[in-house]
Amino acid sequence: MESPNSRRQLNCRICGSENLRRYLNLGATPLANSYLREEGLVSEEFREELALQVCLACGLSQLTVVVNPDLMFRNYLYVSSTTETFRRHCVELVGTSTDVAGCRTGDLVLDIASNDGCLLSKFQARGMRVVGVDPAENLAAEANKAGVPTICAYWSAGSAEAVVDRFGRPKIVTATNVLAHVDDVHEFVKSVERCLAPRGIFVVECPYVVDFIEKNEFDTAYHEHLSYLGIHPLRVLMSRHGLSIFNVQYFGDIHGGTIRVFVARDGDYPLDPSVAICLKNEEAFGIMDPDRYEAFGRRVLANKHNLLDLVGRLRATGKVIWAYGASAKGNTLMNYFGISRDLVPVAVDDNPKKRGFYTPGSHMRITGIDELAQSRVDYLLLLAWNFEAEIIRRCRAVRYAGGFIRPVPEAGLVDGGGDS
Ligand SMILES: [Zn+2]
Repeated sequence: MESPNSRRQLNCRICGSENLRRYLNLGATPLANSYLREEGLVSEEFREELALQVCLACGLSQLTVVVNPDLMFRNYLYVSSTTETFRRHCVELVGTSTDVAGCRTGDLVLDIASNDGCLLSKFQARGMRVVGVDPAENLAAEANKAGVPTICAYWSAGSAEAVVDRFGRPKIVTATNVLAHVDDVHEFVKSVERCLAPRGIFVVECPYVVDFIEKNEFDTAYHEHLSYLGIHPLRVLMSRHGLSIFNVQYFGDIHGGTIRVFVARDGDYPLDPSVAICLKNEEAFGIMDPDRYEAFGRRVLANKHNLLDLVGRLRATGKVIWAYGASAKGNTLMNYFGISRDLVPVAVDDNPKKRGFYTPGSHMRITGIDELAQSRVDYLLLLAWNFEAEIIRRCRAVRYAGGFIRPVPEAGLVDGGGDS
């Protein structure tokens, strides 16, 4: 199992405990973003165990195996989050965090894993100076061209120093949807603490582990997604670097349930009651209770049988089923359910860059919505279930008249979404 390609995670990446309980095994799975060209379909794909374990000392859920990041970010087909919901969320984040930090015009904002500079451009619009750090060369170039200064690097002590030398100390550091992908979270947080301005704030957003478990969102697990975070483990992480969480917000409609935590140096900001409420809710949920997680594992398995049964029955009556959303979560789901292209041959996706590629493992051909409009399809399997309403609207707009199958939280047909 130990190889240059991957290593086992034998202790908790946050608190170091070896008291880990394994609770979900999604099987040997190809890397979620390794889309294939037609000629690649015949060769063996790299696969690695995709399984989860919870730390019974701090409540962190994490993958059992860490794949070498160089392997995961090769052939990465970037999708910018351009949904209306997400754009509104970014604008709200800018307003709230500048208010909380009491920012003045010209204060510096740093965004870690800044992508194409989308979030930073909204800080600029409020008169802030900005700098981004992102390891993807094409994205950093795109952002620089659009006037968002961006350093092309992974976040580390070195890139933190480069920010301070060239731009000064940031009053706000944002890290949205990145911490869960980071292996050495202590180096990551320590580097933030080192560069933060006096009374600066660190704003972290990540998918919430309580939703992951309660809403059966097993398909948001993929090899890049190393940690499944809650307030309990985050608090332990921050406390080791002289930082504390002083406010928590929750967004049920972002990425299947997202938490935003406001972090600062100990004692800099008054403690908001939301932190204690959140901690109490997590205790009531059972964030360190192994039974909680094992019950989740059983529900996910039952869901697999139900979906396979539904798809099998529809196919047996000659129905044509395609998928919608060739995303990372779709790939986890297709591979865990063992659905291949003989059952579901084609996946519709809105990212034109993916068109003509094939999905890893399941080998569905990826196409655009225009081909759906011209084809006889009876059902669409909603792999991007988090955008259900938006997808149904788009499909109806091109006169798709068939039904929709929802795979999560429970397999079933979408009410009012079909002809049967
Ligand atoms: Zn732990």
